[in-house]
Amino acid sequence: MVKSIMIELDISKIKNSPGTKYHLVKEFKMQPIQAGLEEVIFNTPVRLDVSIANNGRSIAVAGSFETKIKLACGRCLEIFDMPVREEINEFYYNTGKQEINPDEGGEDWIPFRGDSIDVAPEVARTILASLPMKLLCRDDCRGLCQSCGKNLNVEKCDCNKDDIDIRLVKLKQLLEKDE
Ligand SMILES: [Zn+2]
Ligand SMILES: [Zn+2]
Repeated sequence: MVKSIMIELDISKIKNSPGTKYHLVKEFKMQPIQAGLEEVIFNTPVRLDVSIANNGRSIAVAGSFETKIKLACGRCLEIFDMPVREEINEFYYNTGKQEINPDEGGEDWIPFRGDSIDVAPEVARTILASLPMKLLCRDDCRGLCQSCGKNLNVEKCDCNKDDIDIRLVKLKQLLEKDE
């Protein structure tokens, strides 16, 4: 994992004191994440608003985050902004502590070591899961003209008319031949 995409939450003050917690509102810069063939680019930092609690056996991170991402429309290829606001609710266990059995928490518990928790993978995963199947700049996006490539949301093209004209011209030619 690239260092720069980490969203590190400091837990040095609570990790050894069960029952303690603190609230954090902070912005983090994210590097682009890959969504299949698409790249999700962050227009604004990820604003995290969470409570981080030591509940004895795990550190619980619960709250929400919001950001704005940039995507390419699947129909017209224009770049558009999409606001994202999602919940985050994760449990982390300290791999350095022998007495903690991660099986207690099931497969959902996420391991950590040291004085910080990196929630960037969960943020990225949540964003990817929230994306609609078809990424469109708007529901009624007209897309690009198959013939000339013009963005039909922005301008009209003459392609259909041209097609008709060509047919008319050919018809005319045929008629003229017959004469
Ligand atoms: Zn579009
Ligand atoms: Zn066209």
